[in-house]
Amino acid sequence: MFAKFSAEMAARLEEIVGKGNVIQGEDIGMDFCHDELPYGEAHMPEAVVEAHSTDEVSHIMELCSRYELPVTVRGAGTGKVGGSVPVQGGLVLSLKGINQLVSFDEDAQIITVQPGMLLQDVKAEAEKHGLCYPPDPGEKTATVGGNVSTNAGGPCALKYGSTKDYVADAVLVFADGTVAKLSDKEEYASVIGSEGTLAVITQLSLRLVKKPEKEVILLFPFMDTETCLNAAAKIRESGFEPAVMEYLDTDLVEFSGNVTGNPVFPIEMDGERVGATLMVGLEGESDDELDEKMESIAELAEELECLDILVVDTPTLKRDTWDAHDAFHTSMEAGAKCSHELNVTLPQENIAQLVEYAKERGESAGIKVMCYAHVGSGGLHIHTVYDGAKEDFLPIMDAFAADVYSRCTQLSGSIVGEYGVGYSKTGYYRQAIGENAYGELSARKTAFDPKHILNPGKVVI
Ligand SMILES: Cc1cc2nc3c(=O)[nH]c(=O)nc-3n(C[C@H](O)[C@H](O)[C@H](O)COP(=O)(O)OP(=O)(O)OC[C@H]3O[C@@H](n4cnc5c(N)ncnc54)[C@H](O)[C@@H]3O)c2cc1C
Repeated sequence: MFAKFSAEMAARLEEIVGKGNVIQGEDIGMDFCHDELPYGEAHMPEAVVEAHSTDEVSHIMELCSRYELPVTVRGAGTGKVGGSVPVQGGLVLSLKGINQLVSFDEDAQIITVQPGMLLQDVKAEAEKHGLCYPPDPGEKTATVGGNVSTNAGGPCALKYGSTKDYVADAVLVFADGTVAKLSDKEEYASVIGSEGTLAVITQLSLRLVKKPEKEVILLFPFMDTETCLNAAAKIRESGFEPAVMEYLDTDLVEFSGNVTGNPVFPIEMDGERVGATLMVGLEGESDDELDEKMESIAELAEELECLDILVVDTPTLKRDTWDAHDAFHTSMEAGAKCSHELNVTLPQENIAQLVEYAKERGESAGIKVMCYAHVGSGGLHIHTVYDGAKEDFLPIMDAFAADVYSRCTQLSGSIVGEYGVGYSKTGYYRQAIGENAYGELSARKTAFDPKHILNPGKVVI
């Protein structure tokens, strides 16, 4: 049983962070009750504390540990599994204001930042120096602390890996207020992707890479999903190393294009409906190198069984294409009365099977299912829309999720996906990984946080 927030705790916290940085009662904004999980439960924290340094976070944690008050860390709150929602009350520790650039080492290609810095600002900072921070989970207003805590993925993960591959070091504050560096002990690596349940990240040193000189996008339309995903495998087997390879279901691009009025992706070719499109991003150091890559890939066209190859090479077309891609999530929400999304990862060779299963299962339940996937890294986004009442949609969605997660596990996938477990997947997650693995995770949680005050109710309960 956790402690309840008290006037005494408020006074102690104000001594640490200053009066204006402890927000209580009606002054707490509704945003702190939820994240971007559709139809998520609203949980009001007892207080919100805005911290601005490692030292402050350390003192806050030491205090909360002493009082046994739960602490839920929050970045920008763009998570989609309820990770930053204070399901057990207590404090929300907001790190959005701890967002400064600490240092930039151009020779070592390392940027050191505070965790509340937004992904878009880290990217912009890198670009000022002709460098690039590749992880890109689509939502650029997320904080890098949130990205690291969920090990965010995205379209570029195929060539560049996920967020964890870019963490050179970090400053961690543990549940009892102790401060350490990620590099101090091997076992601290598990803090990455632990969704704020093992430690608070208060500083990050991130690896940067050289920005590619040239890039082009190729769109390959196909008759169906299976041919599209087989072609993706062939492209990789043939030695190409695309930076991006996105499987796009035509139902999804059509729905989204109708909402945004930006119908970039092919829907029909020669009077026939396209089943799916593969969006391939190629990079090179010169125009000649890119031309060579495009020619070699075009030679594969017959073997790939694509209907055409569309070249997206001007800055405007490239921007339009990425804008259309990045609008999938919001256009689902805008274009239907009810919408939801399941996010999983699975081996490339099994994506088509799960897409087919989800579409059939959705059809029999009366919901429309539309998908896209980061091929290679295996991140599959399964969007659902429904034009009836929310009260009818939610039970359908629950049953649909249970079946899709179970099928995903059978297909050697992970239901953690790119978004994490949060509170919304805890039951499914326990079932998917089995009691032994669950027990190990629980033991690790206890080793890091004996009183279970850090983000309780998430990942393992
Ligand atoms: C439209 C849209 C598209 C998205 N697409 C993708 C996608 O393609 N891939 C993907 O991976 N995600 C995606 N997301 C999800 C989301 O953007 C990511 O999970 C992001 O990394 C969360 O960052 P945040 O700052 O919003 O974190 P929050 O939502 O605030 O927190 C997320 C989790 O991290 C913990 N946390 C945050 N900061 C810290 C810290 N400093 N120390 C310890 N724990 C911390 C929180 O407690 C919580 O458990 C998408 C979201 C939206 C809205």
